[in-house]
Amino acid sequence: MKCEKCENKIVFKSPNLCKDHFIKYIENKVHKTIKENNLIQKDDKLVIAASGGKDSLTVLHITHLIHKNIVVLAIDEGIKDYREHTLETLKEFCKERNLELHIYSYQKEFGQTLDSYLSKNKIRPCTLCGTFRRYLMNKYAKKLGATKLLTGHNLDDEAQAFMMNLFTSQLNLSARQGLETGIIKDDKFIPRIKPLYFCSEKEIRAYTFLKGWDLKYDECPYVPESFRFSISDELNDYEINHKGSKENLVKNFLKILPKLKEKSNDALKPLIECVKCGEPSSTQVCNACKFKKAMV
Ligand code: SF4
Repeated sequence: MKCEKCENKIVFKSPNLCKDHFIKYIENKVHKTIKENNLIQKDDKLVIAASGGKDSLTVLHITHLIHKNIVVLAIDEGIKDYREHTLETLKEFCKERNLELHIYSYQKEFGQTLDSYLSKNKIRPCTLCGTFRRYLMNKYAKKLGATKLLTGHNLDDEAQAFMMNLFTSQLNLSARQGLETGIIKDDKFIPRIKPLYFCSEKEIRAYTFLKGWDLKYDECPYVPESFRFSISDELNDYEINHKGSKENLVKNFLKILPKLKEKSNDALKPLIECVKCGEPSSTQVCNACKFKKAMV
């Protein structure tokens, strides 16, 4: 089959594009998302949260094509036989682009690696890890002087998060989703933006493959234990027979998002400083400090 833009053979279906046109298509799509949604301003200092996986390298590379004031922040959770490899990839990637990279670890910040916490405590890995990760990302993005924190969340991530909140009757949590995360506007919170919002996981996988990036360690070993994993499986199965469902889900979610935000704004508690660490929190002690205390 021929590319819809030229005479070359296609490497991707729907849209049917050859290698060069597919790469351009993804880069244009991300740049358009940034521009049309006003995600980045000229004078922004961007901190990109990267792990060395396909999504973070893609957002880093494509954003760097149009914006140079970028610092990279990575979190080393301490996941043996996985994170050390992705961080190696990330170091190489940043070195090639002459980008400043800062790595913060659970070991140093919380006294233990994620593996160690999980070997002694019965808790869903992503519940603990996600809390610690968000905490460190915000804390250090602030210290690095970020005006925006970029993450590699894609269309699939967004569809999964919405479904998870629906299934667990926590629709109020979806008010924090969208192209710019969060509902609280406060200096203590760095706005988090998602330039890959309209790119599917399949598209990003194809993009990194066609760019020739060697990404062997793309999935955290704890993923199969997560609720997100089963939702992701269900959505992928559904997408096979109902093409475009994930995109429709996210686009329709965006239509109800303003209402969700409005509703949660009414219920918001004012932000205070955590009495233990001084980071922003809606309760006396923030969730990261609560977890740190509760874990052995
Ligand atoms: Fe942490 Fe879960 Fe992500 Fe693994 S999949 S890095 S445990 S949040």
